[in-house]
Amino acid sequence: MRDVETLIVGGGPAGSSCAWELRRRGLECLILERQELPKRKLCAGWITPKVLADLEIAPADYPHGLRTLDRIRVYLGSTALRATHRTLQYSIRRVEFDNWLLERSAVEVVRHAVRRVESARGSFVVDGSFRCRNLVGAGGTSCPVKRALFGPERGRLILTQEVEFEAEPRDPVCTLFYPFAGAGGYAWYVPKRGAVNVGFGAAAARLRGNVKSHWERLVRLLLKRGLLDAAPPEPGSHPYYVGDRGKEVRRGNAYIVGDAAGLATCDLGEGIGPAVESGLWAARSIAGAGDYDCGLVAPLSLRGLAGRAMARLVCGPLRS
Ligand SMILES: Cc1cc2nc3c(=O)[nH]c(=O)nc-3n(C[C@H](O)[C@H](O)[C@H](O)COP(=O)(O)OP(=O)(O)OC[C@H]3O[C@@H](n4cnc5c(N)ncnc54)[C@H](O)[C@@H]3O)c2cc1C
Repeated sequence: MRDVETLIVGGGPAGSSCAWELRRRGLECLILERQELPKRKLCAGWITPKVLADLEIAPADYPHGLRTLDRIRVYLGSTALRATHRTLQYSIRRVEFDNWLLERSAVEVVRHAVRRVESARGSFVVDGSFRCRNLVGAGGTSCPVKRALFGPERGRLILTQEVEFEAEPRDPVCTLFYPFAGAGGYAWYVPKRGAVNVGFGAAAARLRGNVKSHWERLVRLLLKRGLLDAAPPEPGSHPYYVGDRGKEVRRGNAYIVGDAAGLATCDLGEGIGPAVESGLWAARSIAGAGDYDCGLVAPLSLRGLAGRAMARLVCGPLRS
């Protein structure tokens, strides 16, 4: 049995941010990650400046491909009506970003797929092999800590289809098609350094038609608008949840962060920022320097009425 002060299950942005914060406060922790590194994650990889600011990363210091997205173009569904806005966002490749965050945290990562979580006399035991005082569930959609220690509610299911492939982007402008596949759903074309990511996501409860036919329609649109010059490789899918705010994310010394807690924003389903924020807050709580609560993590990506209107389409009325 290996004893450790804090055990973090999952090495995505939520887990690595928590580890990074604990480590720089001089606290011991260990990450259990089921995938071999460098691990892969299906994700458009669009990040806001806040993600970098929260992690104290200067864009120039990021050693991998970071692309600045200075404009965003939004098409009205499949029509040719469009508007282009100035913005400041970034795109990264998750296979690079997640691994670099893990390395940067300088915390040991053990390859281990967690199956069983038990709590006993003030500590937690994982698979009979690891014992800890604090347990952080950062295992994403199917997090075993969430399953074992927290309630069954999961929020709204978001269905996605997406592919990322290496190619020089034909167009440098990040492009969205809104609405797509159902009310509140949208499709994207995200240019990266040496790669392109295309896909769509929509709340399962509001999806019109089937996922395959929406993918085929998206490919036709991307070709028609000149964003791609040939059909992309086959997409993959990864469902996730965006949740009701106000739910429990901490029980004693057990915490759930990021997608494990359904913290992606209710309007755009942006999950990297909330994963980082919640990971940092859980670490501060463990260090006795804060009180982690999901109300601390921003529920919307868009400001004001636009965000609330879109959140209503995806999740229904916001509770807080
Ligand atoms: C198609 C798609 C596109 C997206 N695009 C964007 C975007 O452009 N911008 C954005 O901000 N968000 C986006 N998101 C959301 C974003 O990807 C997630 O919200 C974010 O990855 C959540 O981070 P996390 O660390 O909580 O979980 P994850 O990134 O899912 O990490 C969880 C980790 O836990 C590990 N794990 C799981 N189970 C176990 C276990 N039993 N034992 C050990 N380890 C385990 C996994 O292998 C994984 O490494 C997108 C999501 C999808 C599906």
